[in-house]
Amino acid sequence: MKDRVHTFGRRDALRLGAGAVLLAGLDLGTAQARTDLHTDPDEADYVIIGSGPGGTPLAANLAAAGFTVLVLEAGPAEGDRRWYDVPVLSNFAVSEDTRIRWDFYVQHYSDLDYNATCSQWVTGRGVLYPRASALGGCTAHNATITMAADPADWAFIQRLTGDDGWNPETMWGHWERFLSWQPTEFGLVDIFKIDPQLGRIVASAVTEAQALPGGGDVRNQRSINDRAFVDAGTQGFFYPPQSTRHGKRHSMRERLLSARAAHPSRLIVRTGALAERVVLAPGPDGRRRAAPATTWPGSACPSRSTCPAWAATSRTGTRCRWSPSTRPSSCSRRAPSARPRWTRA
Ligand SMILES: Cc1cc2nc3c(=O)[nH]c(=O)nc-3n(C[C@H](O)[C@H](O)[C@H](O)COP(=O)(O)OP(=O)(O)OC[C@H]3O[C@@H](n4cnc5c(N)ncnc54)[C@H](O)[C@@H]3O)c2cc1C
Repeated sequence: MKDRVHTFGRRDALRLGAGAVLLAGLDLGTAQARTDLHTDPDEADYVIIGSGPGGTPLAANLAAAGFTVLVLEAGPAEGDRRWYDVPVLSNFAVSEDTRIRWDFYVQHYSDLDYNATCSQWVTGRGVLYPRASALGGCTAHNATITMAADPADWAFIQRLTGDDGWNPETMWGHWERFLSWQPTEFGLVDIFKIDPQLGRIVASAVTEAQALPGGGDVRNQRSINDRAFVDAGTQGFFYPPQSTRHGKRHSMRERLLSARAAHPSRLIVRTGALAERVVLAPGPDGRRRAAPATTWPGSACPSRSTCPAWAATSRTGTRCRWSPSTRPSSCSRRAPSARPRWTRA
């Protein structure tokens, strides 16, 4: 791993896209494909921090629209592990995969005492809120269940923001676009024949579900994402639609990799690149430009003994894997740089 310092900035400004967009499939309208594409990966029209469901579709759509895009992802590329591929092993990935695990602790409620009643409460820290730091973000370890949102929720946001772009009909259009590149599958039904205990658990769930309004039918192969069910808010027993291909996890990671394959000169992805600051500074033309300053979050923790995150990764023995909740000051390996930098994978 070799660090490089990159100067950064191009055209009027470097526009910074943070990985916080809510839904895939942004319409980028008629952005003109550019003919003067950068071939130098040290420069980009857009920098997107984070490759989860917020950042990845944005990066893919911008690259498809002709812009050069640099994606900075703090975590590794992942994807080479069984618990990545197999959705039912997601819990294992969440708790055991120290390469990608980021344990946050939060307060879910303003009533602090009430937080302590949560089953994931940890005294002195808060409520455990696990996240993944990897290509694809939390879709690298989530349960892959892919369900359309309740139209009432979109209507609520529409009212709240006064922005009609959130209306349920428009959002359904975005959902359909999302499904066009992220189709869903159902899990193996035959597994119930192989595993009788699982069959019994499911049978009792079916019994419970049938008591719900609208009932539920285990033989019903229609998806819970059928428009009629979504609009009616139908409850019942459904096979969960999963974001898999041929039974394997198909996450934002795959989306990003296929976009990169389609636009290799426009979409640059750096893993192991943690953006620590956004530097705003005048460029040579006097106009303000933005650049993220990043460091590699491992490898050089100065003191193994004082690093509380070290124990979590001692099995790998190679790096101090801090999480936002555990990061000790001794793990900031470098004095903040005045110049933009990121590390090259
Ligand atoms: C255990 C678990 C199970 C879940 N199950 C489901 C499910 O079955 N179905 C479902 O629809 N949703 C599920 N979710 C929720 C869903 O995965 C998340 O809502 C979604 O991934 C959030 O997307 P995001 O892009 O906002 O953030 P994230 O997916 O968290 O991605 C953020 C990315 O940004 C990177 N990053 C953050 N800061 C920096 C920085 N400073 N520099 C560089 N990179 C940075 C992180 O490393 C990460 O890769 C689950 C979530 C969890 C944690």
